[in-house]
Amino acid sequence: MKWIDLRSDTVTQPTDAMRAAMLHAPVGDDVYGEDPTVNALQERLANDLGFAAGLFVPTGTQSNLLALMSHCERGDEYIVGADAHTYRFEGGGAAVLGSIQPQPIPQDADGTLPLDKVEASIKPVDPHFARSKLLTLENTWHGRTLPFDYLAQAGALARRRGLGFHLDGARIFNAAIAYGRPARDIAQHFDSVSVCLSKGLGAPVGSVLLGSEELIGKARRWRKVAGGGWRQAGMLAAACMYALDNHVERLAEDHARAATLADGLRELPGFTVTGCHTNMVFLDVPAERLRDLDTHMRASGVRVSIGYLPSVRLVTHLDIDDADVARAIDAFRAFEA
Ligand SMILES: *Cc1c(COP(=O)(O)O)cnc(C)c1O
Repeated sequence: MKWIDLRSDTVTQPTDAMRAAMLHAPVGDDVYGEDPTVNALQERLANDLGFAAGLFVPTGTQSNLLALMSHCERGDEYIVGADAHTYRFEGGGAAVLGSIQPQPIPQDADGTLPLDKVEASIKPVDPHFARSKLLTLENTWHGRTLPFDYLAQAGALARRRGLGFHLDGARIFNAAIAYGRPARDIAQHFDSVSVCLSKGLGAPVGSVLLGSEELIGKARRWRKVAGGGWRQAGMLAAACMYALDNHVERLAEDHARAATLADGLRELPGFTVTGCHTNMVFLDVPAERLRDLDTHMRASGVRVSIGYLPSVRLVTHLDIDDADVARAIDAFRAFEA
């Protein structure tokens, strides 16, 4: 029986066509800047999103870390959502490896950092304080698209106060599809953007950091320091190119399937759907039932992410089709019965 794995959009298998693209990719030593496929990927995303340069890295965590370390120096700080990936879910890397202090700001329910709170957190130039250098946003955030106008408003604040402006755009293409706009319309507000190819886009590995030549030059150096200089990485970049060519528009299918899943679950009285955003559905399940739910779902061949706030997260992706959604709803219904 096929597993229906709804834990995350990171669980996808490379398709046969993607593997074929990887097999035949021209490669070279990327530490020398000589991998043609890596170079093509970096240039392509830079052009598409409106930046001068790009840097291919293994993970979104490394991409964000390199961005923070390239915008900030030792003793600087970045202003970040208290529930943002770059603050909560990256092992404290900016502090551990960059000597950069985070200034977390509690987010509103839509994922925005209230701009009056952001502004109030900017430190005066004074030896008592870390130097406020950077504002970072995340879009999508737990599947939610930030209000489109907010991006320009936050960008205007960053410029007015002399802060750099970074986007953790791990799922920027999900946001673009949801807004019905090109990803460039999102990216245009930022000095740097980190994009994941290994989430909904379905590549096995890879993120790209985008920014100015100067910023990406610094990031390239920090990538080497972090042990991330890679050699014939073009085979991985080829998977990412394939994903950009073939898996962006289809994200709309993931969003539609998430909506179908949420609609099906809303009809079941034992579960409370607390949110359905782009490719993610969130469920509130009483804590004492979570373990039994997990056991039941696994026995039904369905894996869900338990322990996520509010309590269950379901994510649609490349390897989930309509029949899988129907089977998942049936499995939830059988738990209720
Ligand atoms: C997954 C993710 C990252 C980090 O990506 P990894 O490749 O898992 O390191 C960063 N930000 C957000 C919002 C993510 O979802």
